[in-house]
Amino acid sequence: MSVQKMNRPESPANGSKVCAVCRAKASQICGGCGEIAYCAKEHQKQHWSIHKTQCKPYKIVSIEKYGRCMVASKNIKPGEIIFREKAIMTGPKQGCLPCCLTCYTSLENVEEASLFRCPGCNFPFCQEKCAKSSEHSEAECLVLSKTKSRITITDMTKSHPVYQCISPLRGLLLKTTQPKLFEAFKGLEDHNNLRRQTEYWGVYQVNVVEFLHKVCELSDQFTEEEIHSACGALDVNAYEIRPPNSGQQRVLGVFPLASMMSHNCVSNMNHVIDGNYQMTVRASVPIMRGEQVFSSYALALEGTRERRALLRQSKLFECDCARCSDPTECSTYLSALRCQKCPTGFVLPIRPLEEKETPWQCTQCSYKLTAVVVNRVVDKLKEEFEAIGPNEVEKFEGFLKRHAALVHPNHFLFTSARQSLSQLYGRDERFLLNSLTAEQLERKISICQQLLSVANVVEPGLTRIRGVTLYEMHAPMLLMARRTFEAGQCTSAEFKEKIEAVRSILAEATRILSLEDPASTEGAMGTAAVQALDQIQRWISSM
Ligand SMILES: [Zn+2]
Ligand SMILES: [Zn+2]
Ligand SMILES: [Zn+2]
Ligand SMILES: [Zn+2]
Ligand SMILES: [Zn+2]
Ligand SMILES: [Zn+2]
Repeated sequence: MSVQKMNRPESPANGSKVCAVCRAKASQICGGCGEIAYCAKEHQKQHWSIHKTQCKPYKIVSIEKYGRCMVASKNIKPGEIIFREKAIMTGPKQGCLPCCLTCYTSLENVEEASLFRCPGCNFPFCQEKCAKSSEHSEAECLVLSKTKSRITITDMTKSHPVYQCISPLRGLLLKTTQPKLFEAFKGLEDHNNLRRQTEYWGVYQVNVVEFLHKVCELSDQFTEEEIHSACGALDVNAYEIRPPNSGQQRVLGVFPLASMMSHNCVSNMNHVIDGNYQMTVRASVPIMRGEQVFSSYALALEGTRERRALLRQSKLFECDCARCSDPTECSTYLSALRCQKCPTGFVLPIRPLEEKETPWQCTQCSYKLTAVVVNRVVDKLKEEFEAIGPNEVEKFEGFLKRHAALVHPNHFLFTSARQSLSQLYGRDERFLLNSLTAEQLERKISICQQLLSVANVVEPGLTRIRGVTLYEMHAPMLLMARRTFEAGQCTSAEFKEKIEAVRSILAEATRILSLEDPASTEGAMGTAAVQALDQIQRWISSM
């Protein structure tokens, strides 16, 4: 009983449509959008120059529970582009370290002598060209020049509160520099009424509103409410981007069309943002005509309590999607504990949307726990998990061993540990692929398989995690096959079969990773995957 189904439009194949050109009875429908019909191919061709700007595989509709949202206007195949959109603005994220305001290069390790100080506002940039970019040198520099006598950013290793104003200011300045884009920015949900009751409101009041009013002298241009709206629009809608040279830091980008997608903890799209801040959104699984296009703001491999807490805190809503409402999280058991009273039961929340009060109950016996006890246990595990350094293979393995009797094998902390291990085996300098024992290679393969079995449910289809994990899995499989064959432990027919299996895994990894920006880590992995696939294919055909 999903909202999408209730709103699914009637099938257009009922002959009621008329040709968009001649109004005669239509016999075919535009394959791009599924919305417009024609009497014949000729009229479709003739109409294309007009229709092409409107031909989209989605439409924006109002659905009571979601408000305005994006719905497929035709069946969309996995990998098919749903839309492309360039950010209407980008800016530094709250709490960032000093960075170039144009290209976001981190200035953390840059000497004062190598910085370029903008003559207008004295803000540090990576180079003169960036300070002179139109993004900065026009309206923004003039506003920031008001801070010149008060602020000099000198410590590049510490975040400076003035950076909190930059992104809201950029949104607001669109009003004069790009009025059309400002309309789109203003149209974004700001949740001011909810945010007013949170602690951030007071912080924004001091760090952004009062700063822009008093120091930047903008009080006659933007009201207090407008400035809070800009802060809210960014908090609720902005996507995080990882530009090259920005180090660990993230940049915010605003994509109004992408903001139309409702959230669901199992999304059906994937998105890539390239170096020009253009987002490409594709279907990750088949999306049927009339179904919503869902993005996810939460991490798919987290448990329900963790995802819902993040969504509540950062996006100000209570997620009650199918996954959140299901105690088993779509049979993944990502939050389940093992029963301590019977051998086969798992303890699950009875009412997963009431994480503070819900009793937890064993699936096999009468064993019960309170939410308080469960949350305390999980928080303690989480603390232990988070204390593990990024490359500590033995500690991740130890964590999995130590708590195997306490949580479900798929528990989200276990799944996260496996995600780290899947990349460390074969990559960490102490565990390089060729030096791995047969047992370690098997371990890497089984870790990848377990990870995929979870990802197939919570991040299904053409998704980054599946692409990366499939790629990680192919190498130990290939090595194992070769070693067994060379040791005379399998026949050449068996060997060929094993190589075929590697080929098909690699082919899927290639398909997924080819969607990534070539400049990103995953994109580079995609390039390596193409080469590996090519090699295997040549190998197979020579066998
Ligand atoms: Zn016609
Ligand atoms: Zn069309
Ligand atoms: Zn720069
Ligand atoms: Zn400047
Ligand atoms: Zn959810
Ligand atoms: Zn039990």
